[in-house]
Amino acid sequence: MTTATVLPIPVPQRPAVRHGVEFTARGEQTVVSLPEGTYLRIGEDAADLLRCLDGTRSRDEVTRTWSARLGPEPSTALLERFTQLGLLETETCTATAHGRRLSHRKPAMLQLTLYQPVRTVAVLARAGRLLSRRPVALMYVVLLVCGMYAAMTHRAPLTTSLLHPSRDMWWHVLLAMLLVNICHELGHATALATLGGNPRRMGIALLYYVCPAFFCDVSSSWSLPRRGRAVVALGGILVNAAVAALAALAGAADLAGQGPFWWRLVIANAFTITANLLPLIRLDGYLLLLAFVDEPYVRPRAMDDARAWLGRQLYGAATQPRLLQRWWSVPYGMAAMTMPALLIGGMLLALAPVLFRLGWPGTLIWALAALLALARLVAGILYVALAGRGADGAARGLKPDQQATGGG
Ligand SMILES: [Zn+2]
Repeated sequence: MTTATVLPIPVPQRPAVRHGVEFTARGEQTVVSLPEGTYLRIGEDAADLLRCLDGTRSRDEVTRTWSARLGPEPSTALLERFTQLGLLETETCTATAHGRRLSHRKPAMLQLTLYQPVRTVAVLARAGRLLSRRPVALMYVVLLVCGMYAAMTHRAPLTTSLLHPSRDMWWHVLLAMLLVNICHELGHATALATLGGNPRRMGIALLYYVCPAFFCDVSSSWSLPRRGRAVVALGGILVNAAVAALAALAGAADLAGQGPFWWRLVIANAFTITANLLPLIRLDGYLLLLAFVDEPYVRPRAMDDARAWLGRQLYGAATQPRLLQRWWSVPYGMAAMTMPALLIGGMLLALAPVLFRLGWPGTLIWALAALLALARLVAGILYVALAGRGADGAARGLKPDQQATGGG
């Protein structure tokens, strides 16, 4: 696990809240979402102070005013904290928000922003309102039922497609799935825009540096109630389910004489839905879980609990209080720690024949990816060992959740 690196960014001369930072009151806390897709929760008092930073007062004037309420040292510390968290306009933040298309998301994701749907939010919202009308929703349910019926009554060709993958058809399915996955991300963006949120960025991500996926930044869904967040998380899967149902109907009708293609499309979409619903990595299933439990940092806290448990079992480390007060915290944390290794291992195995065929450049890329994966695995094992022996007590901390639906 990576530990958060705090860059010593100087407090700006005239502190001002960063352009694009959004505040949403949720109970006694305020959710603050940043333009690049991270969010954090702060107390109401801190949020009030942050909101007042409009760049009209100097750094000293701000700390003097805050001192009456907090005392001089906490005022300076709070202003520094706001700066380090990227909440204030600084040269670094501006460059990050406007100039950089390629960004790194902790713990291990690269994101390349290809599209900022700011101008199309109104169009997406209109489309979403149309799609959520009762007759359309009813038609959608009928489509799913018919698709499931078609799949169940054509189990033989479906099973054949699954068990005997055709070598000359895989790229047809791949191309189709690229299109479907773009629609999947648009499904998230549409759901979010319809509910009043602001999908900020869309693009391509490399999960754990090796698994390519499309992504849509839906961090502003944190301003929505739980049900709204669940709808945004499901927005992409609803697209896959519709495509799977349509493909099943096309397969049953042997449309264009391409029955095997349609059945493979059904399988590819069923696989996408299943993989996305797993709540173990930051895909749709995790967003659903967050909406369900209505708590932030569920995955990192559960993983820290699992590490503490492992440290106790392996090294007899002292019992740590649970960070996530749920009975499933340790088993979920263990599964969440294992999942990236399985995903990366599977991806490396799948990519090996393709990359090796490209000669030495492909082999080099594969070797680098394998080395990165191995380094990460070793770092994970060392982290448990060090934390278990108490050498890195500070490592047991929280890292902010970042919210982007990925995978598609
Ligand atoms: Zn998704």
